[in-house]
Amino acid sequence: MWNGIRRRGERRADQKNGSSDPAIKKVVALTGAGISVESGIPDFRGPSGLWEKFDPMEYATIEAFTANPKKVWAMLREMGELVENSQPNPAHRVLARLEQMGLLSSVVTQNIDNLHQAAGSKRVIEFHGNSKKLICMNCNRSYDRQEVKLEPLPPRCTCRGVLKPNVVFFGEPIPWGAHMEAREEAGSCELMLVIGTSAVVSPACDLPVIAKRAGATIVEVNLEETQLTRCTSHWFLKGPASLILQTLLDEIVGPKPT
Ligand code: NAD
Repeated sequence: MWNGIRRRGERRADQKNGSSDPAIKKVVALTGAGISVESGIPDFRGPSGLWEKFDPMEYATIEAFTANPKKVWAMLREMGELVENSQPNPAHRVLARLEQMGLLSSVVTQNIDNLHQAAGSKRVIEFHGNSKKLICMNCNRSYDRQEVKLEPLPPRCTCRGVLKPNVVFFGEPIPWGAHMEAREEAGSCELMLVIGTSAVVSPACDLPVIAKRAGATIVEVNLEETQLTRCTSHWFLKGPASLILQTLLDEIVGPKPT
């Protein structure tokens, strides 16, 4: 299955022979909360900690935030602590390595945890924003999360407006630039790796469909089947993202010497 990618890797070592190039030229990864589970950040729909306490549907809408920012900030503060104490796992690192090797064009992520950048990925399209910045809902002033005290909640701007993390809540639009860039990447890739997403959050879940319509092969990596598996994915690789991606990398470059 990885022949196209491997051939491209081989061609780099082999460029002088001028052979024809049947290799896959553009690979894009779309990631969701599942890729960060092995870093200790629970996803929304898995059976883990944070979301048993906080129903995401009750806490993740812009209406909920506007109506009761103190309540929603209690959840955000807990999630923020988890994110701050987490490290990239092998799945994040493999994607960074593939990019370094010239084999991956970009990572489009629905995550807000900054772990792709921490792993070394350079071209990360943040579809749902990033939790490192806070924005004043009144005057739009931006703050680094680190410089803002989270006591008392909700944190406030010097203008007394409520600060909101620079992430997309349900009911808010996707940042225009990220949306356009992600659609462009999806529509122009030849292979899309769809990793650790339940593919139920729109419009992110449209990206594999856009890619497939444009002729790309869709390779899905997940612990369980999703709504993409039967209709959209060409390949479904069942298992934890770190194991599957490390195996993919080993297939491309050969396993590490022991
Ligand atoms: P989701 O919770 O709906 O789905 C996660 C998917 O990952 C599930 O299909 C699950 O089976 C799979 N998964 C879990 N562990 C895995 C592993 N080790 N390897 C491979 N797959 C695994 O998440 P979503 O589809 O990304 O949508 C939820 C929304 O909430 C997104 O906007 C997301 O960014 C946000 N969110 C982000 C974070 C984060 O930034 N880390 C965490 C929770 C939620």
